Amino acid sequence: MKISEIFKNKDKTFSFEFFPPRTDKGVNNLIDTVTALKENNPDFVSVTYGAMGTTRDTTLNIIDIIQNKLHLSAMSHLTCVGSTSDQIQIILKKLRSMNIENIMALRGDPPKGSSEFVYTPGGFKYGSDLIKMINTTGNFCIGAAGYPEGHIESDSLNNDLNFLKLKQDNGADFIVTQLFLDNSYYYKFREFAEAKGVKLRLIPGVMPVTNIEQINKFSELCGCTIPDGLKLRLEQVKNEPESIRKIGIEHAINQGKDLLKNGAPGLHFYTLNKSSATQEIFKALI
Ligand code: FAD
Repeated sequence: MKISEIFKNKDKTFSFEFFPPRTDKGVNNLIDTVTALKENNPDFVSVTYGAMGTTRDTTLNIIDIIQNKLHLSAMSHLTCVGSTSDQIQIILKKLRSMNIENIMALRGDPPKGSSEFVYTPGGFKYGSDLIKMINTTGNFCIGAAGYPEGHIESDSLNNDLNFLKLKQDNGADFIVTQLFLDNSYYYKFREFAEAKGVKLRLIPGVMPVTNIEQINKFSELCGCTIPDGLKLRLEQVKNEPESIRKIGIEHAINQGKDLLKNGAPGLHFYTLNKSSATQEIFKALI
């Protein structure tokens, strides 16, 4: 089902995001994880799209299983990296033939080893260009990315919000935000986006912190601020993995409760392909 149809009956949605594993064993484990999380009745489930190569086929395979065997509303991520417009049209046709109706349309991160996005001649430079093209097919509900702290390459949040508005104007149906660990960034982002005329749902992306290296890496890669209080608490237990996990889950639960109380239109969970932490957070919230 199109996510825009789901919105007609629900003012809050709950969704899970996964990434394509590199091995067959990883794929089987992932299907088990999605099956375990299915008991929470997510409104939709999404699978990210890799920078290059075989993981892209894996994304399509997993999306097919989620949509057609597990019977969940699936959303495939799709990026501009390394593809011409014609190549993207072929992927869209394939997705349509699998009954996929939802696409998260993105510019994409550069492949491993490259530091910046390189435009493919005959392709697209920005997420909003891809959105425009997908919108012309008329077949898909389109999600797009939003950045409560501003995109890492952007010179100002204000400019970034102009491009967010462009995503809406070009046909995006909703926004999912990048991870943030301090809700005040989301509230300011929502206020500024509304002031620019953005009317789309801004669904917060939530991730349970379960390991210090991982959160430091995310913070470095996407510029997400780790609040001082959280950093201190994690540092104090840095050699105790169970305590780190407990603090991370507690933080995500508190974030989620506060967001839902303050009008967020649901939550999108970055599951990191693990069911247990997401399960614990989900059960504490819903
Ligand atoms: P854009 O909107 O194109 O923005 C990229 C940069 O260009 C920004 O700095 C923006 O301010 C600037 N910009 C935008 N439009 C213009 C314009 N017209 N003129 C000048 N400057 C402009 N990455 C993956 O590789 N695969 C995934 O599956 C994936 N899933 C994601 C899911 C979510 C919910 C989020 C939040 C991110 C995801 N990403 C994924 C990461 C994303 O691809 C990167 O953050 C990427 O760097 C930006 O993608 P975008 O579509 O938001 O880019």
